[in-house]
Amino acid sequence: MSIFAFRSLVASVMLGAVAPPLAAQRADNPVAVPDVTMGLIRDPALAATIAEISAARIRETDSALVSFGTRHTMSDTVSNTRGIGAARRYLFAKLDGYSKACGGCLRVEYAPALLEMRGHPDHPMVNVVNVLAWLRGRDTSRVLVMGGHYDSCVCGRTDLGPLARFEATQDAPGADDDGSGTSAVVELARVFSKRFPRGLATSVIFVAYSGEEEGLYGSTHLAQRLHAAGYKVVSAFTDDIVGNVVADDGTVDSTSVRIFGADPDNGPSRELARYAWAIGTIYNPGFRILPVFRLDRISRGGDHSPYVSLGDPGLRFTERLENYKRQHLPTDDFAHVNFGYVANVTRLNASVVGSLANAPAPPVALARRDQASGGQKWMVSWREIPGAARYEVLFRRTTAPTYEKIYQAGAATSFLLPDQLDDGWAAVRAIGPNGDRSLTSAVPPPCPVLTTRADSVAAGDLIRNCIRAAGR
Ligand SMILES: [Zn+2]
Repeated sequence: MSIFAFRSLVASVMLGAVAPPLAAQRADNPVAVPDVTMGLIRDPALAATIAEISAARIRETDSALVSFGTRHTMSDTVSNTRGIGAARRYLFAKLDGYSKACGGCLRVEYAPALLEMRGHPDHPMVNVVNVLAWLRGRDTSRVLVMGGHYDSCVCGRTDLGPLARFEATQDAPGADDDGSGTSAVVELARVFSKRFPRGLATSVIFVAYSGEEEGLYGSTHLAQRLHAAGYKVVSAFTDDIVGNVVADDGTVDSTSVRIFGADPDNGPSRELARYAWAIGTIYNPGFRILPVFRLDRISRGGDHSPYVSLGDPGLRFTERLENYKRQHLPTDDFAHVNFGYVANVTRLNASVVGSLANAPAPPVALARRDQASGGQKWMVSWREIPGAARYEVLFRRTTAPTYEKIYQAGAATSFLLPDQLDDGWAAVRAIGPNGDRSLTSAVPPPCPVLTTRADSVAAGDLIRNCIRAAGR
């Protein structure tokens, strides 16, 4: 047990609060493994759903996608055997079949947008078409987005010159980038529609994006559409490049995956990364999650980022070892995708999507220095969350990657935090009647959370020591 864990236990016992599970000690590993599960719990119904995910079905979808030769955003849309038009009709038909099997529980749609390709010298207008399957939730104003991009490219072919990005006729199999992620999303739509035909607490949108390779066109369009229509985006995930296990130097890793959660450290994407790290560890401890605390890989982008820019929690799932000699090339082929591995990433997706879609909304909490304790304690308060039975307050040191203490606040909407908030981060989460825990929201929150008039009014006499995000 680390000294901090011991102190945390003592502090929790003294205050009558519940401490998180202590650091685990493995016989084969003398170094204490920090507990990252944040007190989240396993739901048997969700575990049964996860168990239905099939590597063979994911493989079948990816095989069909690759068979269309190219899925470039500007490729043929008329043929039924080649090009992006054939690919999206295949995806639509497949999702529509799942909907028919669940009594129409999925609303499957083509979401087209005529967009200008800004990077192309001729600035052509291109019909960028996402394929969506909505699983309606009990609260239809809140949506969770689970996506992958079905377009492909051979933008890495140097022999094609500077316009390689827009080459739409040559073979671009995109089996890993991002046939793997798209096939995972299709499998999630199948399993969730079968298991939860009446939906979860929030709506879930399973989406195959287009226009990713030319500049995140499809995801940008959907993120803006959801915001313009007044939806609250609970979280936006992208599975992008989730099937390679062998790097070009021969290194192999089929047992871990990376998740990318953007700055700031108290922002919604980082809280989402902690949540995914915890939930994945609970449901599939043998599949290791490597959280990366940044928006994406260096100089790379993905379909979670348009949501992150709008202030939504967003997260990217990507294989541990990328093969840069295949990406965006004709060699990104079917033979080099490991579908057992893709299935494990899909199971991780399912655990995070299912847990969050069943949970209440996270509270927005603020903190005020407590006078009675001479400023050593802090009063944390938040507004009541619909559907929440109780609340928990968490705490971590600023240097700790995830939360280290959990305090029970009961049904109250305030809590006297015994820790010095100057030296750490606190967070509050709502708990539904069945124990489903919301995302945490950090205290103090990042500034954008307080931008609405309602939030400013609620702040009242509370200090508004929000942390301004760099570059905003
Ligand atoms: Zn990609």
